[in-house]
Amino acid sequence: MKISVQKGDITQIQVDAIIVNLFEGIKKPGGETGAVDKALKGALQDEIRLSPALTGKLGETYVLNIYNHMPARYVIIVGLGKVDELDEAKIRRASAAAIRACLKLQVKSVASVIHGMGTDGYDPKTSARLLTEGTLLGSYQFTLGKSKEQLKKAPQRIQKFVVVESDAKKQPAIKEGVKQGEAIALGVNTARDLVFDSPNHVTPTYLKKTAESLSGLTLKVLGQKDLAKLKMGAFLSVAKGSDEPPYLIHLSYRPKAPAKGKTKTTKAKKITLVGKGITFDSGGLSLKPSKNQELMKMDMAGAGAVLGVMKAISELGDLNVQVDGFIATCENMPSARASKPGDIVTTRKGTTVEINNTDAEGRLILIDTLTYAQEIVDPDEMIDLATLTGAQVVALGEIAAAAMGTRDSLIESIKTAGKSAGEKFWQMPLYDEYKATLKSDVADLINAGSKGQAGTCSAGMFLKEFVDEGRAWAHLDIAGPAYTSRDFPEVPKGATGFAVRTLLYYLYGLTE
Ligand SMILES: [Zn+2]
Repeated sequence: MKISVQKGDITQIQVDAIIVNLFEGIKKPGGETGAVDKALKGALQDEIRLSPALTGKLGETYVLNIYNHMPARYVIIVGLGKVDELDEAKIRRASAAAIRACLKLQVKSVASVIHGMGTDGYDPKTSARLLTEGTLLGSYQFTLGKSKEQLKKAPQRIQKFVVVESDAKKQPAIKEGVKQGEAIALGVNTARDLVFDSPNHVTPTYLKKTAESLSGLTLKVLGQKDLAKLKMGAFLSVAKGSDEPPYLIHLSYRPKAPAKGKTKTTKAKKITLVGKGITFDSGGLSLKPSKNQELMKMDMAGAGAVLGVMKAISELGDLNVQVDGFIATCENMPSARASKPGDIVTTRKGTTVEINNTDAEGRLILIDTLTYAQEIVDPDEMIDLATLTGAQVVALGEIAAAAMGTRDSLIESIKTAGKSAGEKFWQMPLYDEYKATLKSDVADLINAGSKGQAGTCSAGMFLKEFVDEGRAWAHLDIAGPAYTSRDFPEVPKGATGFAVRTLLYYLYGLTE
């Protein structure tokens, strides 16, 4: 879908469908919706009066067929909800709902007004970004697994989307917002594709190739031999059951040098992201039951999110913080070479770990990666993302991720960014008492010791053992929200690309 910005009157645009909006309870719409009503000689007001299905509720869509009053064939009226409750997540959601209504109509070209920019509303750049995000997130479809023949038979997709605004002065800001929105949505949809795609296709090597395809970033890839040289005994213990080679991928973005004659006043902040990339988690010898095992392709959603963020940064640039994205990736498979329950491994840090459950493998690849990332970057802030525990899904479901760490202010910032991004994070504690769950009789630590209690916090505590004293660190357990069985306008059922938006909002300071 090609998105363009056009100065003009929404009633005069040559497209198949136009999108306008309506707040809940409004009987006589103003602004552009009012202009459309006028062009329709009051038909929209009549419809509001007569139809109980047109109320302006958030995400509600109503289609009017029009043939003689405007170049467009359809007017789609999308509900924005109550005027005093409007926020960024609602604008994004309404935009997604509207494009979905257009997809159902199988139209080729669409024009839309910019929602939420009216009196006391959001600035043009923010509103245009939210409209673009919602449009591209709502129209996302996973197609990589379908044959060309099947795709030919698929319904018509939208080719052209025009963002319309009559005020010429607002155009530059709107264009910037659209550009931001496109990059953010591309980041999210990249992560969705990676998580949706099959585990025979998305292997550690495929994640490496994806990283290699990003421009404007530096890349360093460590293979099996490098990991052995670095004494990453925990990471390698997970990888060794599989025929697929493991990789530790390091993508890095450096802020541009200051313009000539200008000196940098402050050193750029260094933010490090670490993603868990188990491209298939069979559980290893602690084999998972076969029910829903096919979903274990999603155990690389943390890595997918880091790749999505880095992809958006590579498109957008213009960031004044240094971002390092580390992806720890391998498969977790049972074989004659696989880790056995009872094995003791030595981590890069030197700590020994008794593996009592080979299905608690994510934390094993993460700890060596966290150690390495801190040595290489010495970050001001470190955020790891992982589909780490089933306990997280039990506690918070698909709706929210669990956040925990060493610095409350960092977690607060992530929660705030998440609110603007339309993603929820709930803070969980790392009480010192949870340390008792990590005690091993034969090694320094045990990898899965929670015994059915506070599994998410116990896993977080395990990671914390490998975080340097005083380091600002947040651990995001995204096991639930990485994949959804429910359909939301901006989050179609399946792989969600969760946390990509939040992290981009945080890094770019887009939070209101
Ligand atoms: Zn596992």
